[in-house]
Amino acid sequence: MPTYEFECRGCGKRFEILTSFHEHDKLRDEPPACPECGKRETRQLASLFSCKVAKPGF
Ligand SMILES: [Zn+2]
Repeated sequence: MPTYEFECRGCGKRFEILTSFHEHDKLRDEPPACPECGKRETRQLASLFSCKVAKPGF
């Protein structure tokens, strides 16, 4: 399954969601809650399959 990277608008936390393509459709309508602060004001970052190395603070 693909992973999608999200960033929280509230606290700036970046996190990944592992989901199926079908579930991903839902995420567009209903963004996942931030695991850090719980806000749903998250946005999806561009799919970065090749940028696994650039993961600051993880
Ligand atoms: Zn947050």
